[in-house]
Amino acid sequence: MNLTEKEIIEIKALLSTPRAVTILTHRNPDGDALGSSLALKFFLEKFNHVAKVILPSEYPFNFAYLDGIDDCIVYDLARDKAVEAIKSAEIIFCLDFNALDRIDRLGLIVDEAKAKKILIDHHLDPEPFADYIFSDTAASSTCELIHRFIMDLGEGKRIDNSIGEALFTGLITDTGSFKYSTNSMTYRVAADLKDRGVDDYTLQDNIFNTYTEKQLRLLGHALANRMEIIPEYRAGLVALTKQDYLDFEIQRGDTEGIVNYILMLDGISVAAFIREQPTIVKLSLRSKGDISVQDMARKHFNGGGHKNASGGAAYAKLEDIVARFKKVLPDYVAKREL
Ligand code: 5GP
Ligand code: MN
Repeated sequence: MNLTEKEIIEIKALLSTPRAVTILTHRNPDGDALGSSLALKFFLEKFNHVAKVILPSEYPFNFAYLDGIDDCIVYDLARDKAVEAIKSAEIIFCLDFNALDRIDRLGLIVDEAKAKKILIDHHLDPEPFADYIFSDTAASSTCELIHRFIMDLGEGKRIDNSIGEALFTGLITDTGSFKYSTNSMTYRVAADLKDRGVDDYTLQDNIFNTYTEKQLRLLGHALANRMEIIPEYRAGLVALTKQDYLDFEIQRGDTEGIVNYILMLDGISVAAFIREQPTIVKLSLRSKGDISVQDMARKHFNGGGHKNASGGAAYAKLEDIVARFKKVLPDYVAKREL
């Protein structure tokens, strides 16, 4: 769903005088969620809008290099401020999520808010809760779509270094450094941002080479002691227990990327990273090719996402979720003789 010419004209009219704009993104924001939100905020500020970014939960510390990230309102830390920013907004942008339940309790407040709502996203099956829906599941990232949005408004010249770095961050993180989910536009956008002076080398260094010693040891532990391979279904999983969380003092972001290591194994096409959290078991799923982990997440783990990268959660025991993953595998992968 690209925006129609008519919709672009309407949005231009909406933005033709300074507005109170609130930008929202999903819980556990990643590089694309943060980059798209901050890029849009800086862009709107160029036209004297008052733009605020709301994050449902805290951001991983490796994104601290992003300009303006300290000014984001984190709902978990400042509930009243976040709710007030939604209630008083004239325009609400919803970025990098497709359904109001992805922003938890804020979803209801957004649903009831009077503001005009604009959804910009690249996840499958967007829910029709917004007045304008700009959704393209072929796009690498929401950052790619924000770049298109800025270009569609004819304002490419406004992309400064802060906007460029924020957008490039989402391109990098949602494509695993241009390894997957790319299309030719992804590279055109990257080239355009590089032409405008973005230092992508330093961005990659900031994003990926900032592990703590604890994180690297946890990765070693996860792969050495918590990984199980199911070769006949080309699958692998890593399951972390509550005790692992205590032993390694695991915090938000510490487990980022572990799931991708499983897919580095030759012959493995589906990966699950399952972790036991205080009240819930969370699951990250990744796949290659035609295997849809989005379908698996939706049908079996109350989740969703993209065809090759999705997630979900359940109130269940860790071993039950591991067993459920193994049980549903035959619906997605043909058994092979070993
Ligand atoms: P991750 O495994 O990195 O947390 O998430 C991968 C993808 O799955 C992301 O695109 C994210 O939006 C989606 N996702 C993760 N957890 C959930 C969930 O609980 N519900 C839904 N609908 N999508 C999720
Ligand atoms: Mn994204």
